[in-house]
Amino acid sequence: MNISTSQQLFNRAQQSIPGGVNSPVRAFKSVGGTPLFINHAKGAYLYDADDNQYIDYIASWGPMILGHAYEPVVKAIQEQAVYSTSYGAPTELEIKMAELIKSMVPNVDLIRMVSSGTEACMSAIRVARGYTGRNKIIKFEGCYHGHADSFLVKAGSGVATFNIQTVPGVTAGVSTDTLTCAYNDLDAVEKLVEEHKGAIAAIIVEPVAGNMGCIIPQPGFLEGIRKICDADGIVFIFDEVMNGFRLALGGAQEKLGIDADIITYGKVIGAGMPVGAFGGKRHIMEVVSPLGNVYQAGTLSGNPIAMIAGYTLLSILKEQPQLLKELDDKTAYLKDGLDNVLKASGTPYVINHLGSMISIHFSDHPVTDFATAASANNELFKKYFHAMLNRGVYLPPSAFESWFLNNALTKEDLDHTIKATAESLKEIL
Ligand code: PMP
Repeated sequence: MNISTSQQLFNRAQQSIPGGVNSPVRAFKSVGGTPLFINHAKGAYLYDADDNQYIDYIASWGPMILGHAYEPVVKAIQEQAVYSTSYGAPTELEIKMAELIKSMVPNVDLIRMVSSGTEACMSAIRVARGYTGRNKIIKFEGCYHGHADSFLVKAGSGVATFNIQTVPGVTAGVSTDTLTCAYNDLDAVEKLVEEHKGAIAAIIVEPVAGNMGCIIPQPGFLEGIRKICDADGIVFIFDEVMNGFRLALGGAQEKLGIDADIITYGKVIGAGMPVGAFGGKRHIMEVVSPLGNVYQAGTLSGNPIAMIAGYTLLSILKEQPQLLKELDDKTAYLKDGLDNVLKASGTPYVINHLGSMISIHFSDHPVTDFATAASANNELFKKYFHAMLNRGVYLPPSAFESWFLNNALTKEDLDHTIKATAESLKEIL
């Protein structure tokens, strides 16, 4: 595959942008090689600057759930753009967006729009602290909630990919208020809450984790945390930035049948525009300014282009619930096909899968938390990634990421991916 234009662009980018990228994992630093510079995308395909076509399993890390350049969304953005790209004043569209979300997801009485998943999670924590008058939070090792200081402790995604133990610039003062447990370890949560009784404002979790590969909550884990939160007055935050509007219309809360107190959103909610949101039960969200004194604001929050994009996509998902079902079926088909070729290869592997979240760990033991994800053969994953890329399949460049399927994928795309996996395994094992 000729990627000479991407190579030139990468050299040029590094002169002006740290590491040549505006978000670290894009640099392919951990897998090696040259990141592909994308020229355009349509449906399930990315086209790089040398016009190579790839089947896209990143989907902009989640948002493009119905495929790239999805026509109703493109049209809605174009129509709005002529009326200005931002007002910094309230619009009816923001009300419609809030009402639509409330009609789709449980436990959201009030919701505030922001511009990223990071902002949503950062604000949710502030609300929980303001509401409870407590300082400490519990997060889970390998979960990623964005790059706000409080979350960069034992974080997943790029922090895990680059094996950054302590992030310089995050003060010890902030980090001491972030307590961590292993994902799926309810006993550890119980112990930690007991040790810090009355001091914990919030427990934040990715209900289905996607930032250490895909990891499924074991039965009783989230239910148990719900009980602990109720008993000790702790705010239970579901970070649904990845899960929301993907696992079900009502997200992980609906899919798993568990109620959260605050829920954060990102990715799909903005259809590829910079959008996040945090919402929750009225008595908690009432602390948010200007109702209460928990200050939170944004020049571009509720931006009309971003709102119309998200509103259009969410409306379609709501009106045509078969779309998410189709996507789940495609993911299950892919899972079965990958299972067959991986089994045939004889290499130890684990596929974790729920709905349209899926990932492969080259592991001979179940992958249920960060430690088990980190002890998989991630060197083999790097080889697999490149072998797949050479066959026109663009996977996340790290075993510490979930794959993101989109509904524009055809059966032929999935079959190609399965065949490419069989060929890749032959090449790398
Ligand atoms: N939470 C989760 C679960 C995420 O996966 C991410 C991003 N991958 C974030 C929060 C942060 O979102 P953003 O990158 O939009 O700031």
